[in-house]
Amino acid sequence: PRFEYAPAPESRAVVDIASSYGLFIGGDFVDPVDGKSFKTVNPATEEKLADVSEASAADVDKAVRAARRAYDRTWSRLSGAERGKYLYRIARILAERAREFAVLETLDNGKPIKESRDVDIPIAAAHFFYHAGWADKLEYAGLGPAPRSLGVVGQVIPWNFPLLMLAWKIAPALATGNTVVLKPAETTPLTALLFADVCQQADLPPGVVNIVTGAGATGQALVEHPDVDKIAFTGSTGVGKAIAREVAGTRKRVTLELGGKAANIVFDDAPIDQAVEGIVNGIFFNQGHVCCAGSRLLVQEPVADDVIHRLQRRLGTLRVGDPMDKNTDVGAINSAEQLARINALVDIGEAEGAERWSPPCQLPERGYWFPPTVFTQVSQAHRIAQEEIFGPVLSVLTFRTPDEAVAKANNTPYGLSAGIWTDKGSRILAIADRLRAGVVWANTFNRFDPTSPFGGYKESGYGREGGRQGLAAYLDDTPLAAPAAKGTR
Ligand code: NAD
Repeated sequence: PRFEYAPAPESRAVVDIASSYGLFIGGDFVDPVDGKSFKTVNPATEEKLADVSEASAADVDKAVRAARRAYDRTWSRLSGAERGKYLYRIARILAERAREFAVLETLDNGKPIKESRDVDIPIAAAHFFYHAGWADKLEYAGLGPAPRSLGVVGQVIPWNFPLLMLAWKIAPALATGNTVVLKPAETTPLTALLFADVCQQADLPPGVVNIVTGAGATGQALVEHPDVDKIAFTGSTGVGKAIAREVAGTRKRVTLELGGKAANIVFDDAPIDQAVEGIVNGIFFNQGHVCCAGSRLLVQEPVADDVIHRLQRRLGTLRVGDPMDKNTDVGAINSAEQLARINALVDIGEAEGAERWSPPCQLPERGYWFPPTVFTQVSQAHRIAQEEIFGPVLSVLTFRTPDEAVAKANNTPYGLSAGIWTDKGSRILAIADRLRAGVVWANTFNRFDPTSPFGGYKESGYGREGGRQGLAAYLDDTPLAAPAAKGTR
């Protein structure tokens, strides 16, 4: 096979991976109460990277108590400017240690090193810089003159952008004065644990950030903990619904960032080569493990054959393989379970009559791999046109008129993102207005910026992250109760 996994000696040297990791509670790494652990593996090789602690409900309770103490005694008493200083410090350390984070992210997740290096880690640092600037300006957040923090926030994140999802969660929570217990995904815990090291290096007061590793049961213990004021969740729609049911009737607030099935709509006047690059970036970036991936291509009939032809030619040039090679375009699938889910839906696509195509490509023998795949002859009723595959698989549909494009784009249970490719500015505005999608990109795709709010409609969840709107999710604007009149109790 073309692929032999042998990380360049200097790349391993960049990051120190311990053989086992404790939980980060109250500013220290501690052993879990019942001593349980699980392993995290490199999905490109199936080699074990480290043993990681599995937090039980008792560990989660310790973490929530540490977060509550830190909230009451230090963090909620600091001025915004003081909190901002810590966030700037964290941001600078992330930027300084970017290589270390990029290598670790790629080893644990399987994504190409050029993506961790150029996208995940720089944008994570940018989130801390951006929110550091907000910490002393919350009166401009749009929630009145003195919005207050909520308290202890429980955060549960997925494996597709491990450090970046952590940054989306922790930066706004700390800027607004909350303390945090965060649970990373079980297949990608390592950069969250390296982030704990950054918190120590930044002298962040103990307990302001706590990291509890574990699987779904650890996340559930956090969601159920009675002393958590808010749950922020990013992950699948199924788990998101279970969390919404769980917190209904409690004092907890909740924001949910869930799945997607975005339409990338290409009109016949679009710059075709640019659109093809956008289609490739839309669905093959990060192996398609992207909630807002452009997983459905809607292309106008007169240009459909041309677009598909150019797309296939372009896919023939993608390099699939060793994620540590800086020329790799498509890396490993994150886990055996995810690979099985992709295979199952792709089989269903074929069984339902869609036509499957992949460029010739020799996949490595070990590890979890899936080739870039395009389905044509797809109809709206097909499951591959409705369900999130969360892999490098594109479903192509065609349309004749703008009305048909809008109707098809909106015809899924999701509403997270969409893309429009056209030469006409007026068309961009008119179509964007009718799409039920939280984010609409025009003549580009998968662009992220901390100043832009991100979030969904329908089964893609509720709440926004990023921008001024993202702060609202971590602030309380309920007016304080008027002081009781003298003589009354
Ligand atoms: P998942 O829902 O299986 O897991 C997400 C996280 O929730 C993990 O940390 C997991 O351990 C935890 N979890 C599992 N069961 C739980 C429970 N009962 N209670 C509390 N926590 C629980 O999702 P996944 O497979 O890790 O991630 C892929 C999904 O995430 C996709 O559907 C994708 O679209 C979505 N996603 C959404 C966004 C967004 O911003 N909207 C971003 C990234 C990923």
